[in-house]
This record gives sequence, C-alpha cells and structure tokens, in this order.
Amino acid sequence: YAKTVKSGSARLFTTDMDEQRLRRQRLAVALKAALESDQLCLHYQPIFRLDSLEIEAVEALLRWQPSDYGRVNPLEVILVAEQHGLAQQLNEWVLNTACRQLAYWHKEGFTQLKVNVNVSPNIFAGGRLANTVEKTLAATEIPADSLVLEITEDTSLWDTASSLETLASLRELGVGIALDDFGTGYSSFSHLRQLPVNKLKIDKSFVQDLPTDPRAVSLVKTIIELAHNLGMKVTAEGIEEENHLRVLKQLGCDLGQGYHMTRPAAAILMTQYLKARPLILPQTDQDNLMR
Ligand code: C2E
Ligand code: MG
Ligand code: MG
Ligand code: MG
Repeated sequence: YAKTVKSGSARLFTTDMDEQRLRRQRLAVALKAALESDQLCLHYQPIFRLDSLEIEAVEALLRWQPSDYGRVNPLEVILVAEQHGLAQQLNEWVLNTACRQLAYWHKEGFTQLKVNVNVSPNIFAGGRLANTVEKTLAATEIPADSLVLEITEDTSLWDTASSLETLASLRELGVGIALDDFGTGYSSFSHLRQLPVNKLKIDKSFVQDLPTDPRAVSLVKTIIELAHNLGMKVTAEGIEEENHLRVLKQLGCDLGQGYHMTRPAAAILMTQYLKARPLILPQTDQDNLMR
C-alpha cells in the first residue's frame, strides 16, 4: 500500500514529517497493545561506587521490540507515549516493574541495592506521581530510599508549582531524586537552585571526552565540586574506557556506570551477575571496615 502511494503523484506531497507522523501513529497503536499484553521489557545497568567497585544501584532502561519495527529507541517510545496519551500508563508500568524486580533482589539477599527509574518531566505536572510512587512502594514493600527517580531538565515544565510540589513530596517520602544528563539542558544552574534533588548525573558526552580534552576535565571537575558543595552524590554515565574511570576516580566522582564495567542486561542476567559478585555490604559493616 505504501508503495502505490509513493509511486503516484501523491509522493510529491508526502514529506518526511508525514512519514514520521504515520510511523508514530502506528507505534502508538502497537505500544498501547504492548502495554496491555506485557510485551515491554526493562533492562538494568549497574551503577558502581567508584572507590570500591561495589554495586550501589541499577538503572532501569526501557526496551521494546515490536515485531514490525525492530528495536525502538526508548526516547522515541517515550515521545510516542507522550504524544498519544500513554505517558502515565507507561510510567506506571516502568515504575511497578522496576520496584517488583528490586523487591525480588532484596529477597535474594541484595538488601542494600537501589533502583533508578527514569521519569519524563511531563509526568510531574498534574500531581499524580507522588501518589503513584507511594502506592507502588507499599505494594512492593521496598523502602522509599531504595528508589531513585531520574529526571532530565529538557523541558520548561519545571517552572510549574505543581511539579515542584510533587518533587518535594517525593523527597519527603524518602525517595531519591537525580538530575540526569546534567550539563546538557538549558538552565542547569537555576534547576540546581530550585529543585529538591539530591543526586546529579554527569552526561556521557562530558565523560567521553576525558581525559584528552582538558576542557572536559575542568568541566567534570567543576561539576563534581559543585555537587559536593551542595551535598549531592555524583554519578558519571557513559564510562567506556579504563581512562575515563581512572580520571573520574581521581576527580572524586562517587558513582559511575558504563560499557567499560557492564552493559544494560535483562533482569535474569543481572541476577546472575549480582550473584557472581561479592555481596554488597550493609552500610554499617562498611563503616566498620573503614575504621
Ligand atoms: P539515560 O537515562 O541518560 O540512560 C543512559 C543511556 O546511556 C542508556 O541508553 C544506556 O543504555 C546508555 N549507556 C550506558 N552506558 C553507556 C556507555 O558506556 N556508552 C554509551 N554510549 N551509552 C551508554 P538507552 O537505554 O538507549 O536510553 C536512552 C534514554 O532513554 C535514557 O537516557 C532515558 O532518558 C530514556 N529512557 C530509557 N528508559 C526510560 C524509561 O523507562 N522511562 C523514561 N521516561 N525514559 C527512559
Ligand atoms: Mg537515566
Ligand atoms: Mg543519563
Ligand atoms: Mg544520557
């Protein structure tokens, strides 16, 4: 059908925009079905404490491979969901799946493990999120401080009072909030001042220019100091080489993730990976060891 349209004069009027809109409309239909029949999947990537290389947390990353399209980039999935009224439902699915998985890992003995869940900023306006999170925590019986929500600064929605209120209630619950992809948004500094975030993630574009680009080194150093001065833990994403890891450690970065350590993997593989590693020590034992 697409071919006949294209070969006719209609092609003159078929722009890339139209094709993209059509693709996204079809994806939205498939996504709705996928949400209802559990065809989506989360992969998990470990986040390491850089001093000990113990696993502090895993970041949940959306994976979807509808039969007609191959793997769809998670950012496009989110966009489609937002454009077609599925964002709320998708967010709830991700949150619920990640928390249930973490509850299983806690039960398996990894009791200090946390899970990081990405949340699109649009979800914050409207005020339902804090309630959803509270219910999910209660249903899965994981402690609030085992959950970290990662938010990006890529929209202006942060200005709305209700988003700030939602963030504040989440912090009150004890949930961690990380500012993701830090340094790539528009007004990083005003966000740092206004938003009640307690963690900061340095975008991989900065990390990947380490250590050869002296400007990247200076920037990363400054971001780490800034975060520490504000009482925040810093995570570096996109650590692909030993060199990146070495410099980040030297600069005092707290946490890191990247292909150099491990790629995101399905839950079942992550369970094997966790079990193959020494158990994460409870914070108190660790403190004892340090003394
Ligand atoms: P992000 O939150 O910044 O996630 C990190 C991205 O970097 C992931 O891409 C991850 O697979 C990739 N990554 C990890 N280590 C390395 C590395 O060493 N090198 C490189 N080049 N990349 C690395 P992914 O999984 O394709 O996700 C892309 C983005 O989509 C995420 O960026 C996040 O913004 C969004 N996203 C993913 N899952 C979800 C979700 O469940 N909900 C929402 N709202 N957004 C999601
Ligand atoms: Mg993230
Ligand atoms: Mg990120
Ligand atoms: Mg990123």
